[in-house]
Amino acid sequence: KESVMDRIQYEDALGGEIPEDAAAKSALQKLKEERKTLPIYPHREELLQAIEQYQVIVIVGETGSGKTTQIPQYLHEAGYSKQGTIGCTQPRRVAAMSVAARVSHEMGVKLGHEVGYSIRFEDCTSEKTVLKYMTDGMLLREFLGEPDLASYSVLMVDEAHERTLSTDILFGLLKDISRFRKDLKLLISSATLDAVKFSDYFDSAPIFKIPGRRFPVDIYFTKALEADYIDAAIVTVLQIHVMQPPGDILVFLTGQEEIETVDEILKHRTRGLGTKIAELIICPIYANLPTELQAKIFKPTPKGARKVVLATNIAETSLTIDGIKYVVDPGYCKIKSYNPRTGMESLLISPISKASAMQRAGRSGRTGPGKCFRLYTAYTYHHDLEDNTVPEIQRTNLANVVLTLKSLGIDDLVNFDFMDPPPSEALLKAVELLFVLSALNIRGELTNVGRRMAEFPLDPMLSKMIIASDQYKCSDEVISIAAMLSVGNSIFYRPKDKQVHADNARLNFHTGNVGDHIALLNVYNSWKETNFSTQWCYENYIQVRSMKRARDVRDQLEGLLERVEIELSSNPNDLDAVKKAITAGFFHHSARLQKDGAYKTVKNPQTVYIHPSSGLAEVHPRWVIYHELVLTTKEYMRQITELKPDWLVEIAPHYYQLKDVEDSGLKKMPRGQGRAPIK
Ligand code: ADP
Ligand code: MG
Repeated sequence: KESVMDRIQYEDALGGEIPEDAAAKSALQKLKEERKTLPIYPHREELLQAIEQYQVIVIVGETGSGKTTQIPQYLHEAGYSKQGTIGCTQPRRVAAMSVAARVSHEMGVKLGHEVGYSIRFEDCTSEKTVLKYMTDGMLLREFLGEPDLASYSVLMVDEAHERTLSTDILFGLLKDISRFRKDLKLLISSATLDAVKFSDYFDSAPIFKIPGRRFPVDIYFTKALEADYIDAAIVTVLQIHVMQPPGDILVFLTGQEEIETVDEILKHRTRGLGTKIAELIICPIYANLPTELQAKIFKPTPKGARKVVLATNIAETSLTIDGIKYVVDPGYCKIKSYNPRTGMESLLISPISKASAMQRAGRSGRTGPGKCFRLYTAYTYHHDLEDNTVPEIQRTNLANVVLTLKSLGIDDLVNFDFMDPPPSEALLKAVELLFVLSALNIRGELTNVGRRMAEFPLDPMLSKMIIASDQYKCSDEVISIAAMLSVGNSIFYRPKDKQVHADNARLNFHTGNVGDHIALLNVYNSWKETNFSTQWCYENYIQVRSMKRARDVRDQLEGLLERVEIELSSNPNDLDAVKKAITAGFFHHSARLQKDGAYKTVKNPQTVYIHPSSGLAEVHPRWVIYHELVLTTKEYMRQITELKPDWLVEIAPHYYQLKDVEDSGLKKMPRGQGRAPIK
């Protein structure tokens, strides 16, 4: 099978070539010694014995004890890989990649050979691979091709405490196949103490505890509420840097944007401190960070300097960074929330749970006594934070999962063995959405369209948009758009000192107010015309890495077209055809302009706004469809395209009636003189 390993230089992630010479050999020896110092090591034999004896085991151990990197290696050393692949799931892509890189390093093999990883749109495995790290979502997709997972001898569902949607669904499916595949070993590993719940679910599976070493952590709260946690975090980092003894700092932020902001401000402020202060090495880590930069967070800090890691939740339990002595915890994370009544999904910055706060604090006490600075009050901690984070299955759109389960022939969703069942309203809403997308018929059975949609590792709306592109003869354009949307919001960049230039470059792609989807297509096609030039990306303030990723995704989508019997067809002069295909997937994300310049969603009336980064932000088309909603200061629609209201009735007559799309005589908003810069 095709793999991308040749195109990406993974050695970078490991900080060097695979050892050949004597010096490198001794480095490998040193790594071997290091493995023996991990808390899990003394329990190796006992653990292997337990695994041999029982089919399912729940493993609990503190973050950093060696569960993720060591257990799969132990199993390999004990011969389990002879019977099949040893798989280990991770909730996050970065964790899967980084851990696989580490393990291949420890084993002295090239990443992608004996040790590999598989994440959406990126398969870094080969025939040789015996230890496979993957996202939980990828394993879920593997069920579609191999319902009994016959090629695996062991599956370790790691970070089970995170309770992601995919992990929860895997529980049900794995429990089921373990009944008829007695040879399959199942390990459920968790960093927290809710192991009893996992054990109960897996028919009283034994719990294996790895005793942790933990040093005391002093916890500090703020005296009063901090109005601006970003600013408070920056000040705290600088205070630690100037006043506290050596030791690295870990700051928990909610996402890429925040991390970049803090990175920039910290750089600026430390420059102002002069040369008397020790060097502060700033290391960001988040999902879209390029692989080479990810490795930087693990590099030991040089003597006399201090490292500050700016991380998302990924550093809470999935990644362990040695040397952290100080944790700065603003108390927030970005979580998905879903309103099953309206079917609306939003990402929002929310307070973390007490359990998360404890995990975060614990990161500072791994190698010695630590300190945790919480940027909230003790009162907030005790009275406002929930004990635990609500499992994702109870706060998300389930359309994707329902489509996957239906494709696996699981029709009775209500009686599926959920560890914590989703709200029945959310299940119903998912079935309803799949029905209006024609993926399910009126009896709730998978249709031909649904079967084809399930081939794509995308949200059902995007898959539907691709399926529909066949009808409008524009699959070429539509897969480019789908690929660009899948890369997220990291296409354009906007350096603080060149904002005007960046905004102008960006607006070039919007000529004719084509809308954000077509603008993304324009970016992709223009880049393609330059023969994928890096220089062109620089000149246009476009992130070349994101573009390369989009190209990879696009290549894979093109490959999948064949499987669903869609020909690659192009219709470059008919943008309406492209917009209609988009509408066929996203028609329920329609909104209509109101008199006050706000928008109202058509079916479940709610007030929303055009995101200021949209090319249509100053244009105010009367009807739009949006890709997603994000809630910051307001409920914003991101990635929008103008729409003719009759299309809704034409494309989704089962969803819209004429009365829904009748204009109320509203005049188009006057257009401004020229466009204001993007805020
Ligand atoms: P657990 O899964 O129990 O949290 P891990 O197996 O992830 O523990 O980590 C064990 C140790 O391996 C950590 O203490 C850390 O020192 C080291 N480690 C893990 N990943 C990396 C990496 N990518 N680079 C360097 N060291 C790592
Ligand atoms: Mg782990």
